[in-house]
Amino acid sequence: MRYFNSEHLLVVKEKSVTLHYNIRKAMDINELYRLYRKHPCITTDSRNCPEGSIFLALKGASFNGNRFAKAALEKGCVYAIIDEKEFDEADNDRLILVDNCLVTFKELARMHRRRFHIPVIGITGTNGKTTTKELLSTVLAERYKVMHTEGNFNNDVGVPKTLFRLDETHEIAVVEMGASHSGDIEKLVTYVEPTCGMITNVGCAHLQGFGSFEGVKKTKGELYDYLKAHDGLLFLNESNPDLVEMARQREMDRIVTYGQSADADVQGEVVSCAPFLKFSWRNLATTASKMRTYEVGTHLIGAYNIDNMLAAITIGLHFGVTPEQINHALESYIPSNNRSQLEVTAKNKLIVDAYNANPSSMVAAIENFKLIQATRKMAILGDMRELGEVSEKEHQKVVDKLKADGFETVWLVGEEFGKTETTFRKFKNVDEVKAELAAHCPKDYYILIKGSNGIRLFELPELL
Ligand code: ATP
Ligand code: MG
Repeated sequence: MRYFNSEHLLVVKEKSVTLHYNIRKAMDINELYRLYRKHPCITTDSRNCPEGSIFLALKGASFNGNRFAKAALEKGCVYAIIDEKEFDEADNDRLILVDNCLVTFKELARMHRRRFHIPVIGITGTNGKTTTKELLSTVLAERYKVMHTEGNFNNDVGVPKTLFRLDETHEIAVVEMGASHSGDIEKLVTYVEPTCGMITNVGCAHLQGFGSFEGVKKTKGELYDYLKAHDGLLFLNESNPDLVEMARQREMDRIVTYGQSADADVQGEVVSCAPFLKFSWRNLATTASKMRTYEVGTHLIGAYNIDNMLAAITIGLHFGVTPEQINHALESYIPSNNRSQLEVTAKNKLIVDAYNANPSSMVAAIENFKLIQATRKMAILGDMRELGEVSEKEHQKVVDKLKADGFETVWLVGEEFGKTETTFRKFKNVDEVKAELAAHCPKDYYILIKGSNGIRLFELPELL
């Protein structure tokens, strides 16, 4: 089949705004998108090639999708988009050569997103993006058909993938946007095009890529810049001084606030954490006759989750979800993703927070752990990765805090904790911990398990 016969060709104008046209077939991004509409499934994984889908060759540190393009065609893809000439074949019209597959992917995602005139809520921040996204999606689902980021697909491959999931049935979208380098959010918002959004918080993470805490604020603040420039609505945590200052500097005008401070539109307070968070909230922005204080019992560990809860409530209210629906959604939400999760085994009670760790979430987790009443407590903590120059200092701070807070049984896992000065027990890696657990497993402990995903502490719960 020669699909690209002359009547399908679009001549690329000399000053085309789209630079990423198909080099060989003079096909521009509009035509590529039309092709996608005929075959509305893009796969980037040559092991998963649904019949009739389009393969797009991405590159990573250890793989080059171009190498698999022909195999993808053989397995059922109708076309393969590639960006390395050596994998092209002049007489194979099913191979589409572009100059950068990732850029093409993002541009196609933007064109796709633009077809849907629905609210798109962009969420970024240092900690709590996924939790807030999940809570908010659950709340909105009480009233709408929601498209939301699956899992943690929040980077420049995951976000376009997420946008491609939008279809005519969706009424609202929640998109998580992650950043690990300066300028990441500025790039993501140009194709997410959020109509409203929020930053969960700003803290010390990925300092290797951001350079400094100022770098973190600048990059996350790119969401505020976008909303300001496009008349978007900002949901602001009024009790977070950094976020308030960032909004003030930009003279943000369309704002709805939430938080634990007295003057927030939606205000909340922690009632207890024993161990699950219970909190109360009320909507000060409503008429006095309707104002009520609600109490919500959650299945999340960690007082810090109140901010994530209040964000979901505030956005839910803004979009007309009723307080009763909101409370029902939040009370029914049970985490299953190694974040703020309680696991009760035959031997111990575990707080499994092994998905990620950085100095601010580590402090939040330790502070929360302090509140838990138990006779025998133990912390198994893994390295906080990607901290660059400040890594040694930040790991030492955690160790000093644990000591000052009176923790006695602490196991530290990984090279960075290995460099700290402490009498706490150290393990080179998770395999050493597993060997120790096989020999002597703690019993009747409350155990906090937290570390960067790469340290693999998520392998421990089954042994504890
Ligand atoms: P990632 O950068 O990996 O996408 P994320 O921002 O999506 O992370 P979550 O996955 O929701 O964050 O939560 C990860 C961990 O961060 C939680 O398990 C908890 O320890 C901590 N955390 C979550 N919310 C907050 C918060 N509001 N403040 C401080 N720490 C938080
Ligand atoms: Mg996340």
